[in-house]
Amino acid sequence: MMAPKFCPQCSTPLVLRKIHGRERETCPTCGETFFHKPAPVVLAVIEHADQLVLIRRKLDPLGGYWAPPGGYVEMGESLEDAVVREANEETGLQVAVDGLIGVYSQADVRAVILAFRAHSIGGEPVAGDDAGEICLVAPGQLPMQCPPEGGPPIDRWFYDVIHEVTTPWKWGRQTGARTMMRR
Ligand SMILES: [Zn+2]
Repeated sequence: MMAPKFCPQCSTPLVLRKIHGRERETCPTCGETFFHKPAPVVLAVIEHADQLVLIRRKLDPLGGYWAPPGGYVEMGESLEDAVVREANEETGLQVAVDGLIGVYSQADVRAVILAFRAHSIGGEPVAGDDAGEICLVAPGQLPMQCPPEGGPPIDRWFYDVIHEVTTPWKWGRQTGARTMMRR
């Protein structure tokens, strides 16, 4: 997330130049301009044995909070590939992707979240390296979590995204949560 201070190609200290109406970091030696772009992040809202799979995040943003597994998309994979990989790394489950829930962005956050619905097709739920713990949540049993206070803008934004993408799991079966989650 830190702005680069030196050119990654020739190690020259970067200078600010006005390009396309904005101050941007450029390399005075090789002329490269560094545009700051948000990076795509996938979230996997996974159903396993009629329950929602959540992990307790080890790292910021929202370290210590329960959230669907997710992470940055890497070169060489599609969004769906990233969902399958992150789900497996953080939960031990093999998943199939069911579809896009939504795309979320905020001007002062350098990430764009793409949330997908998925369901398990193999494996057993085990917390992976980036996950402190794992839990299976029955409809109507979402953990209560207080909004973060005083942190960077990404914290509250991410909290709101997690809330929104897990909303179908807020209600018990009698209100049709299961039907909503099924294709
Ligand atoms: Zn350079």
